[in-house]
Amino acid sequence: MNAPAVLTHRADTLPFENSFANLPPAFYTRLQPTPVPSPYLVGASASAARLIGLDPLEFERQEVVEAFAGNRILPGSEPLAAVYSGHQFGVWAGQLGDGRAILLGDVPSLDDAMPGRTELQLKGAGLTPFSRMGDGRAVLRSSIREFLCSEAMAALGIPTSRALCVVGSDMLVMRETPETSAIATRMAPSFVRFGSFEHWFYTERNEELKVLADYVIDRFYPDLRAQPNPYRALLEEVTRRTAELMAQWQAVGFMHGVMNTDNMSILGLTIDYGPFGFMEAFDAKHICNHSDRGGRYAYYMQPKIGHWNCFALGQALLPLIGEVGDAQAALEAYGGVYERKLDALLHDKLGLRTVQESDKGLVDAMFNLMQATHVDFTLFFRRLGDLQVDNPAADAPLRDLFIDRPAFDAWAADYRARLHQENSVDGERRARMHAVNPKYILRNYLAQVAIDKAQKKDFSEVAKLLAVLERPFDEQPENEQYAALPPDWASELEVSCSS
Ligand code: AMP
Ligand code: MG
Repeated sequence: MNAPAVLTHRADTLPFENSFANLPPAFYTRLQPTPVPSPYLVGASASAARLIGLDPLEFERQEVVEAFAGNRILPGSEPLAAVYSGHQFGVWAGQLGDGRAILLGDVPSLDDAMPGRTELQLKGAGLTPFSRMGDGRAVLRSSIREFLCSEAMAALGIPTSRALCVVGSDMLVMRETPETSAIATRMAPSFVRFGSFEHWFYTERNEELKVLADYVIDRFYPDLRAQPNPYRALLEEVTRRTAELMAQWQAVGFMHGVMNTDNMSILGLTIDYGPFGFMEAFDAKHICNHSDRGGRYAYYMQPKIGHWNCFALGQALLPLIGEVGDAQAALEAYGGVYERKLDALLHDKLGLRTVQESDKGLVDAMFNLMQATHVDFTLFFRRLGDLQVDNPAADAPLRDLFIDRPAFDAWAADYRARLHQENSVDGERRARMHAVNPKYILRNYLAQVAIDKAQKKDFSEVAKLLAVLERPFDEQPENEQYAALPPDWASELEVSCSS
């Protein structure tokens, strides 16, 4: 694609096109964001800005802050709120839509991972026709969490929407208590969701269904046009991407928290960060979202739910695909893709270069050990990289993570034997493992410290945490405390759907 070579766009010269706005009017409502009083910059991602050629210094200008607050419309943008529906917690929820997100339009992308164009969307920018009972706003707390996690996931190499900036306002909004409001600017090539397709299927509007599918194929999956049945191919490709995404989430201990079909990206990206969490003390049944009483979206459920959601997409695409058997065949790819991807990721996490029949046993035993001892997920894999094959005495920092040391010793003996088998070299393996097992992740308590300070108008910790999380695999000895186990008070943190 012919993205511009310069990185010096001012916000006002971003070359907007509005491809989504060129869809028929049934797909959205055009509207303006609702201004907020006295907006101020809470945080900005220079690396996200560079992906759209925006000069990061622009965020120092109040005019630009006003634009990303929704108080001023960027030239060339045609703001709109899109309609979609979805299954929430397994139940058909009917029409939802952008209840608080407003799409500005799309601009050229310099992102090698996502070439082409990227859309800019303001989240929390005021009421839309799809706000239902909501107020169209987002709180500072959840906006900071989305901002930091989007950028952290990108740095971890996991497909995700990006976050450009967060702008706050002292305007209070009511949640469990009154909270400061904020607007987060997100970026992704598209925010079309599984639920966008379900919307037209359940309203029996096959014409719109086809328009949307053609739009998605032509814009994001042009190679599929050559397939005998491009709609079946679309389902298969989205299924494949979703399965790979689930494997990546599992391998890093990321829990989304609300995997409703309206939160599933048609591009296989992590989107709609809400009550997410990273696994700390390992428990496969951990539920990160306090509102998810039944544990539908618990850690170990995510791969199954990913499949369930692809199935819901397949159902919605059925009028275009034609034969049920074709849709089923497209969905069949899921299990194999997921298993292969997870297997490859786990081999990398364990520093194994070869594949042996016994590896499944070793991995199962590892997860059993992690489950029985509730070891910290991130510290375990990170310190495992420091293990020396012939020097168990050097294991102390790793071994100390376990309450049940003999259980660890037993597993470590098998792991060492396995490493011996492929003549693994300590230093070389350590470098490979540290490049895939992050040292720094967005622990809830770290986000909370940044949020507490931001609520007192000190945004330094948002910037600091962003800088740390942008280099998750680097040792960063000066930031050692950001890799620490959560403090005792963190066990009382609860994250819910309230955002
Ligand atoms: P979520 O599960 O957070 O992705 O939200 C589900 C739906 O509720 C989406 O359609 C959102 O746009 C909408 N929504 C969530 N919070 C609000 C709010 N404060 N105001 C308006 N709509 C909201
Ligand atoms: Mg959502």
